[in-house]
Amino acid sequence: MENITVLGSTGSIGRSTLDVIRRNPDRFRVFALGAGGNADQMFSDVMEFKPDFAVLSDKSGAEKLRELLKAENSDTAVLSGYEQLSFIASHESCDSVMAAIVGAAGLVPALAAVKSGKKLYLANKESLVMTGHLFIEALRKSGSRILPVDSEHNAIFQSLPQTEQERLGFCHMKDAGVSRILLTGSGGPFRQLPLERMPFVTPEEAVAHPTWSMGSKISVDSSTMMNKGFEFIEAKWLFNLNNEDIQVVIHPQSVIHSMVQYVDGSVIAQLGNPDMRTPIARVMAYPDRVESGVGALDFCSLSGLSFFEPDYNRYPCLKLSIDACWSGQAATTALNAANEIAVSAFLNHSISYPRIYEICSKAVDRHCGDTISDVDSVLELDKKARETATALL
Ligand code: NAD
Ligand code: MG
Repeated sequence: MENITVLGSTGSIGRSTLDVIRRNPDRFRVFALGAGGNADQMFSDVMEFKPDFAVLSDKSGAEKLRELLKAENSDTAVLSGYEQLSFIASHESCDSVMAAIVGAAGLVPALAAVKSGKKLYLANKESLVMTGHLFIEALRKSGSRILPVDSEHNAIFQSLPQTEQERLGFCHMKDAGVSRILLTGSGGPFRQLPLERMPFVTPEEAVAHPTWSMGSKISVDSSTMMNKGFEFIEAKWLFNLNNEDIQVVIHPQSVIHSMVQYVDGSVIAQLGNPDMRTPIARVMAYPDRVESGVGALDFCSLSGLSFFEPDYNRYPCLKLSIDACWSGQAATTALNAANEIAVSAFLNHSISYPRIYEICSKAVDRHCGDTISDVDSVLELDKKARETATALL
């Protein structure tokens, strides 16, 4: 029985994770749940999964949860405050951690899991965008294991030989005969929108992703393809790649989730319906396979698979993030921070859609020369870049 801590349990990935656990009660036990502030959702999950701990970083949410659970005589201990997320991620009774908090808030608890040697199922790509080699270095020191939840990286993982699957963070792609990674992305809801309409798109249109159902922040990132740029950076660190080893390909149907090209001309891909329970089940059961609740792909009903090169005029955030990856860690950390501020402002109707790119671009220019030496300096730069982006709003 694996005792798992689910961070971000009330979100989209968290819900899918709990569904995989629900279907496999003989393999997984929820040790702890952690989230931001949704006390009602947390209450119903605690009643169903009976974890040892439930953490809400929002203190008033935790207070409400405590009251609700007291009335039910629940044995689950309720903890409040952000630092308690690291406590449940590194607790000696926990075997593995699903890191599915959104944004920079996911970094510190994910690192706490790595440093204490837990098996880490990584959905929070922002951790790698922010810290890159520091994260991989922490992995090396603790000997803990990382498995990718992000569907593209999960597809690449599944398409690699077992030798490389066993050493994520430290892969030798040349030894494995890999020539290139093909990172696919749907192109989001604005793939065919006339460019002159871009200034007028609404948050509602941006979060209406054509193939995936996700949280609002990653949905906006998918529409700008900032998400694909972050995945480019994530792939670099997970698979120990050079920037020129990764090619982004637009594939609107989201049936192929990414591919690995080998020196002999072979291309190995992973396919499936666009449902995050597949990659979640793959990492949690690895090396076994378990029921995820996702239906079989029906090839005869597919209308065709198409592929395009991304147009940087349409997706300037994709270019910006790939350039940041070349530039280095300060650039990617600043980009992540500015993007969180800009996307949140766009979702609140405070700025227009094209301003997301403008703000991110200026923040990267301002901070790409900053120095990063450790996680504290990453957090300091994250704070400064947020201030820069906020001032630009
Ligand atoms: P979401 O918005 O649906 O959920 C976010 C979760 O994070 C919630 O549980 C929320 O309470 C928690 N959270 C936010 N701020 C917090 C804080 N300060 N303290 C504690 N908890 C906090 O997001 P999501 O779509 O589930 O995405 C989660 C992560 O997974 C992101 O990093 C995203 O990039 C990644 N991811 C998501 C998908 C997807 O299909 N949704 C796919 C690949 C990767
Ligand atoms: Mg993805």
